[in-house]
Amino acid sequence: MEMETLLAQAGNRRDPLTGSITCPVYQTATFAHPALGESTGYDYTRSGNPTRKALEEAIAQLEGGQRGLAFATGMAAITTVLSLFQPGDHLVLCQDIYGGTYRLMEKVFRPWGLTATYVNAVDGAIEAAVQPNTKAVFIETPTNPSGQVYDIAAVARCCRQRGLLLIVDNTFMSPYLQTPIAHGADIVVHSGTKYLGGHNDTLAGLVVAATAELGDRLYYYQNAVGAVIGPWDAWLILRGLKTLALRLDRAQENALVLAKWLAGHPAVEKVNYLGLDDHPGREIHFRQAKGAGAMVAFTVKEESKVPEVLARIQLISFAESLGGVETLLTFPAQQTHADIPEEIRAATGVNRRMLRLSVGIENVQDLIADLAGALAD
Ligand SMILES: *Cc1c(COP(=O)(O)O)cnc(C)c1O
Repeated sequence: MEMETLLAQAGNRRDPLTGSITCPVYQTATFAHPALGESTGYDYTRSGNPTRKALEEAIAQLEGGQRGLAFATGMAAITTVLSLFQPGDHLVLCQDIYGGTYRLMEKVFRPWGLTATYVNAVDGAIEAAVQPNTKAVFIETPTNPSGQVYDIAAVARCCRQRGLLLIVDNTFMSPYLQTPIAHGADIVVHSGTKYLGGHNDTLAGLVVAATAELGDRLYYYQNAVGAVIGPWDAWLILRGLKTLALRLDRAQENALVLAKWLAGHPAVEKVNYLGLDDHPGREIHFRQAKGAGAMVAFTVKEESKVPEVLARIQLISFAESLGGVETLLTFPAQQTHADIPEEIRAATGVNRRMLRLSVGIENVQDLIADLAGALAD
């Protein structure tokens, strides 16, 4: 079945007792054993819960992996994935990785004994960063907000030759637009808080393993670490998945119109959107993804415009996060990327004149009117 169909039916018809169309919320901490040595398959909700299971099976199917695992937040998911490594191991990460992932690596895992090298999307950069103790490569593509594109299949080949795991954070694309496992990734992670949930109303993290063996190892850590998603939140993410295709189609349509409009605005120096013809990452991106997504970064000519725009927008909210039905505007240098050192930020163009739009599903003319008012002299 096609992606739209799988999404619309996510988690449905799993209750033979009542025939409930949607998955019930199994709000329970524990499950009764039928007899000594017997189990219904569920013992305790940290180890497994039927609502969480519905979400985990849905995301595994959507991403084309063997096992899905759901967590309380994206950072909980990434923490659990990093539990696969030992003190003394080394990872290669992309330079403009999500700020929270950078902070987790540098402030939590480095003191504990894991080391990391950060590279950009230049040919050969990953190979050059690999050390004898390197165990994995962790990328986002396209990166955000600078929009660097990695060729997932090429990175996967490099990893396979060297026995490294390839981990891809697919938050910005979602499985509707890009499925990294099909291009050779071993593990996909998501902040389900973003497009999968889609309504800025709950937090979630998801992990998909390409193989059952890797899925079993990750499940061990999911249960041991315990950063699992609760049944209600799992239900909200399932609810969000049903409209993912419609939401992203509309958000992308809006994003292209807004990107073109911004590119023609006299106060704007540069627009970074994969849907625009001048984006250098387009060729590789559209080999591995079905769409440009709905994140639009733009740089204004004058730094003094930034506080003005943030103060003047009325319909669009000045807020962190992304991927919801409502349009949000962020100032990456001070918000999402505040933990990334200035020199790395400068190298990826995340300067104090850059703003980032997470384009929602509103009427695009209303969005343009709001931005026109905010950018006016
Ligand atoms: C938001 C985000 C995360 C972290 O997810 P939370 O749900 O906020 O913990 C990780 N990666 C990317 C790309 C994100 O945008």
